[in-house]
Amino acid sequence: MSMVSVSKPVRRVVVAVLLASLAIPAYSWLKLAVYGARLAAMPPPASLPMPLPGLKGRDLADTWQAPRAPRRRHEGIDIFADRGTPVYATTEGIVFSRGQNALGGNVVWVYGPGGQRHYYAHLERFADVAGGDRVRAGTLLGFVGNTGNARTTPAHLHYGVYGKSGAVNPYPLLTTDGASDGLSSYNNAHAEQRRH
Ligand SMILES: [Zn+2]
Repeated sequence: MSMVSVSKPVRRVVVAVLLASLAIPAYSWLKLAVYGARLAAMPPPASLPMPLPGLKGRDLADTWQAPRAPRRRHEGIDIFADRGTPVYATTEGIVFSRGQNALGGNVVWVYGPGGQRHYYAHLERFADVAGGDRVRAGTLLGFVGNTGNARTTPAHLHYGVYGKSGAVNPYPLLTTDGASDGLSSYNNAHAEQRRH
């Protein structure tokens, strides 16, 4: 017995099927990689819409770099809201992680414009998103909770933005004029969704 006993046309079909089965997922990964490269080339946003519905800039408190025991500084913003409040992506991008860690509890990471990574933590539960998913600004990611090291505090979203040189403060991005514009158009879209 040897490979020679398999006829040439049969071998061709087998090779074609194998290549096709590899090529289909490879193609979607290639598309994702191309989109990732496009995101990396975009400028980082100068303002962001609110990740939670119905909030204004004045509702937020700037807790950037507030001390956190032991020897940690707060690398983000805490936005307090009722448990179960929906959490929306602030940018388009790619979900590159959806999982658990000790500090953040249930967390979602989104790779966004300018190569920034957006961190949504302490979620009560996840929406229907998974690693590799493409999202838009306003895509539902999960729901506010107090998982991780927030279990002794009221429910809130911990939101962090990480650029090429480390964490950046989300507060000014969420409270600029551009952000409130984004918020109102976003809220209108959201109200539209609720009517359906
Ligand atoms: Zn926090």
